[in-house]
Amino acid sequence: MLKDKVALVTGAGSGIGKEVALKYAAAGAKVIVSDIVEKGGNETVAEILATGGEAFFVKADTGKPEENELLVQKTIEKYGALHIACNNAGIGGPSAPAGEYPLDAWDKVISINLSGVFYGMRYQLPAILKSGGGNIVNMASILGKVGFAGSSAYVAAKHGVIGLTEASAVEYAAKGVRINAVGPGFIKTPLVESSMSQEAREALIALHPIGRLGESAEVAELVLWLSSDKASFVTGAYYNVDGGYLAR
Ligand code: NAD
Repeated sequence: MLKDKVALVTGAGSGIGKEVALKYAAAGAKVIVSDIVEKGGNETVAEILATGGEAFFVKADTGKPEENELLVQKTIEKYGALHIACNNAGIGGPSAPAGEYPLDAWDKVISINLSGVFYGMRYQLPAILKSGGGNIVNMASILGKVGFAGSSAYVAAKHGVIGLTEASAVEYAAKGVRINAVGPGFIKTPLVESSMSQEAREALIALHPIGRLGESAEVAELVLWLSSDKASFVTGAYYNVDGGYLAR
């Protein structure tokens, strides 16, 4: 599905981003695996190489514009082009009502989860155009469509990612670049499971009519389809992959 394509994935050292990188590579793409944490990124690369795929790790903090610029430069140096980007890196942030939300945490969540996606696209788009076109998938969330108590910064950032996706999709549709957003429900990754009690887990499961949390691979399947030519008429779209969460 992605033969001869060069694809970049941020936050690819863990969870959903790792699965996206594995699926891109299995589909034939040369994959730039990027993460702020070297260990996870190197492990993803090692898994791809072990299965006969092609991948290279580049460390970058998506919350810093200059590191996004360098990431794209290194992609071009290594593989000579950029066709596909999945802007997936993100953090949860602390839980507190808006009237008590820590100011530094607000800035950090917005800078990684929203500005980070813009910084990524800011440098990816010119490179994709030079490479003859391609597509971008931005990782939003069901919380890009509805609220969630205690998560004002995360919810605001993810709503912003969907708006940014729509605005840029309109700008680039006629230039051969499709831009879409994906909204997972609660997925079994370190981001969700790191500090959760059994009680909290059961309360979250109850919000998903399908009766369980999702798997990273189930999200990556949708990202892969959106990144392939099978989705050739799909741009500016938001797809949730959420076990029915938003349908309630
Ligand atoms: P995760 O914690 O398993 O993985 C996130 C990865 O991003 C980690 O490897 C981390 O090192 C990296 N990262 C964090 N900050 C970074 C930065 N500044 N620069 C570069 N890399 C950075 O989390 P996940 O659950 O796989 O989440 C991936 C994306 O999916 C996030 O954008 C998250 O908001 C979104 N999402 C997750 C869920 C869920 O339930 N897990 C639901 C909806 C949306």
